[in-house]
Amino acid sequence: MLKARKCVREMSEYHSPLCDPAMELRLDLNESTTGCSPRVLARIRSLDAKLLALYPSRESGEKLVADFLGIKPEEVLLTNGADEGIDLLCRAYLDCDDELIIITPAFAMYEIFARAAGAKTVRVPTNADLSFPIEQVLRAITPRTRLIVITNPNNPTGLDVSREDILRVIKAAPDSAVLLDEAYFDFYGKTMMEQIGRIPNLFVARTFSKAYGLAGMRLGILAGAAEQISLLRRMISPFNINAFAVECLKEALDDRQFVAGYVKQVCGTREWLREKLTAMGFQCWPSYTNFLLVNFGDLRASVLEGMTNRKIALRNRPDCAGCLRISIGTQQEMERVLAALEEIVAEKSVSQQAVR
Ligand code: PMP
Repeated sequence: MLKARKCVREMSEYHSPLCDPAMELRLDLNESTTGCSPRVLARIRSLDAKLLALYPSRESGEKLVADFLGIKPEEVLLTNGADEGIDLLCRAYLDCDDELIIITPAFAMYEIFARAAGAKTVRVPTNADLSFPIEQVLRAITPRTRLIVITNPNNPTGLDVSREDILRVIKAAPDSAVLLDEAYFDFYGKTMMEQIGRIPNLFVARTFSKAYGLAGMRLGILAGAAEQISLLRRMISPFNINAFAVECLKEALDDRQFVAGYVKQVCGTREWLREKLTAMGFQCWPSYTNFLLVNFGDLRASVLEGMTNRKIALRNRPDCAGCLRISIGTQQEMERVLAALEEIVAEKSVSQQAVR
């Protein structure tokens, strides 16, 4: 009988929760609810059949992105979403029984790709306040550590990691690749991109799925030292990026006003929601992203169910006690969430009084 590799047979299918078409307001995947720049949309509409008949060429896009980031084209790879960059790193650096270090709770795909490579995942839990556990991360590094992922700011906590801690990890593991996942960079503003070309084992990943509102386009960036990016180029399809992404890249990067306006709105609305939720007595962590992690305690299941009944999708985080993750949409959308929450809490307290 045909058998896949043992490490693959031992995995289970991972389904993102996006499949429910009944949901009117999807706040479970940290997508933009606003959409992309109108300039990008206009560019898509201008594409003709001839262009789509051709295989896309990544090189021109890599030059644009390199200029935008202030690095060399040899130091950057355009990827099919940041996901593909993570997969590439796992396939390039992790042999069977090598170790990947992640800090949990974490974005799911790191472990999935590492498992598919046959590697072992070493999970270092965050501190009790969900902050970065620097001493434990340093202690977890072994001669088998080949990849360490630091997500800054982190998903699902929304919290950041200090530059000093990132540098300590990089220094402590010179023979390991260190992936700094900056998927939420645009909402945070701090980066280590300028270290590309200076630190040989550092990779930085970015995505167009969040602040650029292009999750459906599947476009990401992986930056790293030229020698390492050259190795990754040997493993990747020359046509990994679709023609829409290549053709729209310039407009996406050029429309700074669109991204800045969207980021400003999201950060403002996020802080408004955080204040309201805190005033209702729910614990909310500070966030440097387009989402909030909220501790609903015993009410978690009721809130999740009540929101689903109202066609609002939030993300359950069973890996954070009592918590749900809420992506930030427009002010109006968040007012709808708050009104729904107030109803759910009121219903719950009425039903509890009835029991008493
Ligand atoms: N890294 C993190 C931390 C993320 O949260 C996500 C998406 N939710 C990704 C990577 C993947 O992004 P992309 O859509 O570009 O594959």
